[in-house]
Amino acid sequence: MSYMISCECINCSACEYECPVRAIAAAPTQYSIDASTCVECDGYFSVPRCKSVCPVGACGPTREGYLFKMHALAHRGASPVVLRRPTELKP
Ligand code: SF4
Ligand code: SF4
Repeated sequence: MSYMISCECINCSACEYECPVRAIAAAPTQYSIDASTCVECDGYFSVPRCKSVCPVGACGPTREGYLFKMHALAHRGASPVVLRRPTELKP
């Protein structure tokens, strides 16, 4: 499991340097979390740091159904979209 950032993100960048393992980075349309790097702040904070600092509640546990829906919308040309990494967007 890892955390993800939903489309509510307003690109404030508050979470980027708060992440203890640097799993958060800017993506083409908004910030995203590298699921393979995120450790849910286990061993660092009692509450995931990105969740604590995000002003709009965009950081939360990964919801596969949500990501699947966002990918489907992206294929139809919708923007902004939520992706874990730009490389996950397939033609
Ligand atoms: S849950 Fe913790 S480790 Fe994962 S992205 Fe958020 S701040 Fe980084
Ligand atoms: S703190 Fe929230 S709104 Fe700001 S960049 Fe991170 S996810 Fe987006």
